[in-house]
Order: sequence, then structure tokens, then C-alpha cells
Amino acid sequence: MRKCISFYPGPSKVHEKVPRYVLDAYQKGILSINHRSPEFEELFQKTTQLLKKKLQIPEEFNIYFTSSATECWEIIAQSLTEIQSFHLYNGAFGEKWHNYTKKLGVTTSHYQFEAQQILEVNNLNVPDEAKIICLTQNETSNGTQLSNEIIHQLRENYPEKLLAVDATSSLGGIKLNIASADIWFASVQKCLGLPAGMALLICSPQALEKAQSLGENNHYNSLLFIAENAEKYQTPYTPNVMNIYLLMRTLEKRPKITNIDREIKRRYKQWVDYFNGLDRFKMFIPNDLVRSRTVITVEADPTTIGDTKERTKSAGFILGNGYGLLKNTTFRIANFPAIKRTEIRKLQDFLMRD
Ligand SMILES: *Cc1c(COP(=O)(O)O)cnc(C)c1O
Repeated sequence: MRKCISFYPGPSKVHEKVPRYVLDAYQKGILSINHRSPEFEELFQKTTQLLKKKLQIPEEFNIYFTSSATECWEIIAQSLTEIQSFHLYNGAFGEKWHNYTKKLGVTTSHYQFEAQQILEVNNLNVPDEAKIICLTQNETSNGTQLSNEIIHQLRENYPEKLLAVDATSSLGGIKLNIASADIWFASVQKCLGLPAGMALLICSPQALEKAQSLGENNHYNSLLFIAENAEKYQTPYTPNVMNIYLLMRTLEKRPKITNIDREIKRRYKQWVDYFNGLDRFKMFIPNDLVRSRTVITVEADPTTIGDTKERTKSAGFILGNGYGLLKNTTFRIANFPAIKRTEIRKLQDFLMRD
């Protein structure tokens, strides 16, 4: 298989040092360490400390390792949901979260809004019985986002409720105000530039108190059981040790999130200007306020979309397909930190030739 430059928004291009770190992990015996050993506990502790430092996660928050963002949806439904959950979404991932929650037998309510619409936080009708609000910060399927300001406003409007945020395709790419919500999660194969198969679940002290008051502890991945293990820097089951190690190594070299945020937003603006300058394409989301900074969704007629995907593919670029119903009229481009400026330039030069 020929090596391509991937612009797919997940699984996405991995950090260029990954092969070297995998080799290190093998040579240092990390790949075979026991997850109850002091070596593992040290790796766990160091990685969570680095995450707090590099992603500006407040000290009092706890970070847990899970296997996927999908698992986090279930953990939230089973361990943090009292009577009802309320789901806010405008796209496929938010909707899936809602559906998975219903399948676990939780009562849910929801508000579905248009991708093009700015969410009006002050006009929401959240039922009293819903003690947790679930939202998708970056909706990977259509390339929209809920800004830090909107999440902050939700916090102000609902100080008594838990706020749970799916930040799978933005955590590590843009600066998120972690303190303004209780639960954040993301899998590592997007902005963190690592191989798939692991996710981070980040919980406020209030979230843990809620888990304690609910007392749900029936599952291998019950939050209480995960938290109890994490106190000893351990996990309930054998975790993805290699990915934890890769995360630690990449974090050591990672610039501060404020710097990454600045670079990602600069690239985002440049992508928008670029596509605005090409007649045959337009941004799928016209409104800059709701547009994702990390997933660029581009619209065109189906023939142009088909041709572009084919031509780029044979030239060694992988673009993200449009998601679900948007498959024939859009493609997506990851604006993730592991992608290099020179790679972006190559793709842009190529798309220009036509
Ligand atoms: C990719 C993605 C998921 C699913 O991640 P998994 O690791 O496959 O569970 C969930 N939510 C969003 C917003 C995503 O982009």
C-alpha cells in the first residue's frame, strides 16, 4: 500500500514520532508491563500530570483512560445519569450518543438544532428531571462547534446540573475551558494524533460526587470502579498501555495548548480563505461562529465532490468523506495538529490545479 497523506478527520494522521516511540516502548519492555506494577502506576501518573499541564486541565479534575468515546457515552449514561438526560445536538455524533443512552434504558429528552443555527442557550427548555446535559462540542459529521462562550453560558444557566461534553475531535486541537463543564471526553485518534483504541474521560469533583451519590457499581466500566482504581494509578481492566505510553511521549514534546490553539485557528482561517477563493467549492457552514476549527467541511455539486476525491486519492491525499446524508455533496478535511504546514500546502496546490 502506497503511503498517503491523510486529511481524514479520524482515524487521522498520527504524530510523526509514533513509529520511534513504539520502538522505544518495545525496547524498554513497556509493551509487556503488568498494569498493577509500579512501572505502570508511574506511567499513569506521569501521563495524567502531563495532560493537566499541556491541556490546561484544572488540578482538581480526574483523568481516566477508557477504550473509546463510545464507551464514555455509556459510562455517562450508566454511572452519572440520575433520572433523565438531556441531549443537545445538530449532527450524527450527538444523535448517536442520544440513541445509545436510550438503548441503555435511560429516559432522555433532547433539543435538535440546525447545523447552520447558532444555539440559543437562553431559550432552551431543559426539563427539571434532567440532571445532566449532554452536548457535542465539535460535531465531526458536519463540521460545527459549540464555542467556549456557549458552554460557559450553559454553566451559568444550569449551575445545578452536570454538563457532559463530547470533545472527541477538538480536545488537544483548540483551547477548551475545562472548568466550565463537569465531564469531557475524547478518543485519541483525532486531535491527539495517536492510533485508535483509547479515550480520555475527564471528570470534575462534582461529577465524582454525583457518581458516589448514585452508587452505580455493577459494570467493569462503572465510573466508581474506574475512579477507585485510578486512585492507585490503575485501571479496572488491562488498558491500552502502548497508547498511554505514546500519549506520554507525545505530550512531553507538545507545545502548550494556547500555542496549538493559535496555530490551528490560523490554519482554519487560511483554509476558509482558500476555499472562498475557489469557485467550485464553498464552505458547508456559512456562519463563522458555528464552524468547527478542527474539521473543515466543504460543499460542492456531487460531480465535483466525486472527481475531487478521486483525483486527490490517486495523487496520494486522503480526504474525509462527507458523513451520512452529506456523503455526495461534501468532503471533510481534518485540521488537526499532527498535519504539517507543508502537507497542507501540497494539498492546496494540488486542488488549485484545475
Ligand atoms: C469520532 C467520534 C466519536 C467516536 O469515537 P470512538 O473512539 O470511535 O468511540 C464520538 N464523538 C465524536 C464527536 C467523534 O468525532
